Amino acid sequence: MIYRLKKLIRRGIATQMYSKKHFVDLKGPIVSITFDDSFGCTFENAGKVLADRGMFGTFYVSFSFLKNQNEQPSFQIEHLEKVIRQGHEIGCHTYDHIDLSKTRFKNAIQDILNNQKHLDRYFPQMKFRNFSYPFGAETYMVKKFIGNRFLTARGNRPGMNVGTCDMANLKSIKLYENKYTLDDIREKLDQAIEKKAWLIFHTHDVQENYSQYGCSPGYLDKVLYACQERRIPVRSIHQALAATHSKSTVEQYDGFAMQNVLNRYPVYLIASQLLEAVIF
Ligand SMILES: [Zn+2]
Repeated sequence: MIYRLKKLIRRGIATQMYSKKHFVDLKGPIVSITFDDSFGCTFENAGKVLADRGMFGTFYVSFSFLKNQNEQPSFQIEHLEKVIRQGHEIGCHTYDHIDLSKTRFKNAIQDILNNQKHLDRYFPQMKFRNFSYPFGAETYMVKKFIGNRFLTARGNRPGMNVGTCDMANLKSIKLYENKYTLDDIREKLDQAIEKKAWLIFHTHDVQENYSQYGCSPGYLDKVLYACQERRIPVRSIHQALAATHSKSTVEQYDGFAMQNVLNRYPVYLIASQLLEAVIF
């Protein structure tokens, strides 16, 4: 109960006090399909389903899952090599798949940097450019670090990205086969067309025997087909970002910066800062 309350407060502070505002003004909708947690089956199945349709996705990797395949999630370096060859994007999901709202700031940073070190070891030419929060958990300090280090960070707040968006906490929709029927997904795609939105889906394991957080390869393929039918381009986060960058620049807002503290809501901000100091 106390932990949940703490998490809620931290999330609230992170949302309000730090953002990377960017005006997403697209000519038409874009869909991004993203995969968390580094399941070997996902690299294998989703990588192929996307590649067969000439589409690209983003796989957020936690290198601590690089291990024996008897454990789940787990992956082998060959999985990464394959999806990279297929042209998909590799993003960062922390090294140890930690809940950032439960982790001390210093340890959180070390963990995120450690994931990059592991990427360097196997793919020295590559750098993580985009991030997704494990469990959708964030704090003000971690979000600010991530906002500075990565181009985007994807959370799990439901919704589409259109108009003024927070690039340090992009909204997304679950692509969980047990949660949404294909008709539900088609409806969301139609809404994305109407709003000219950047619709980001997220899922985990992609296999026949999928979990409640994943989907089957057939379901994923039908989602891609529905995009194709509607002429909605399916792009990795990095590719989609290029399209959103055409008109506006990214502006960082730091609610704890001194001029903002004095200019805006001084009492609330000072109180929040004190609260943040106590919590950390
Ligand atoms: Zn995760």
